[in-house]
Amino acid sequence: MTSSQLVEILTEVESRTILDKYKIPQNKYKFTTCLEDTLNEAKKLTYPLVMKVVSKKIVHKSDFGGVQINLKNEKEVENAYKKIFNNASLNNISAEEIDGVTIQEMEKGIEEILIGVKRDPVFGPVIVVGFGGILVEIMKDISLGITPLAEKDIYKMLRKLKGFSLLDGFRGSAKADLSSIVEIVLKVQEMIINEPKILELDINPLIVKEAGRGSIAVDARIVMG
Ligand code: ADP
Ligand code: MG
Repeated sequence: MTSSQLVEILTEVESRTILDKYKIPQNKYKFTTCLEDTLNEAKKLTYPLVMKVVSKKIVHKSDFGGVQINLKNEKEVENAYKKIFNNASLNNISAEEIDGVTIQEMEKGIEEILIGVKRDPVFGPVIVVGFGGILVEIMKDISLGITPLAEKDIYKMLRKLKGFSLLDGFRGSAKADLSSIVEIVLKVQEMIINEPKILELDINPLIVKEAGRGSIAVDARIVMG
């Protein structure tokens, strides 16, 4: 066996199935494999919608033009479908290499947070929280915690973030639902303890809403080994 056969990067859809098992809140979505089904599923969801490519060949979907957001009607959904396949082919990914798409509800919140886990050979599972979304690479505003983490440890990790004030009602803006983030980190911790085959996990972004309104994962990537 080569090293590439020892690890498998799960697609968003596969990763979401595992999040579901641990009751981590996620937005409504459907996986579809043709335009007709996608249009039918879109009818059952609340606009605006988001469409994303699902392919084992594509790990960072937005790098490939594989994430189309803010779709406001059926026509835009149809166009997004065509765009996604076209963008993939521009990146030398053929239609056969695409499993399908997800059509999902677009969530609005105060901030995009990331929750990640890596297994360290010395420290064991290490949990990362930080500011997420597409700015993650530029901001690098994260805090680390070695498991097991108690609720108060997770609050401490959040308060350590340079941008914490953005979650804490900066200049009179709404406060973010911190307790929902903490609750989700605890669920992630439970997952990593129960699933020894998970090498890495990234929920990015977790869309954090106003205090009392919760947080919702809209993307996930799990690496199995
Ligand atoms: P990837 O990380 O593979 O590039 P994502 O699914 O994270 O793709 O999408 C990229 C960005 O698009 C996210 O960081 C977020 O800003 C936005 N986005 C994706 N899905 C949703 C959604 N359901 N609701 C709101 N914004 C979304
Ligand atoms: Mg993402």
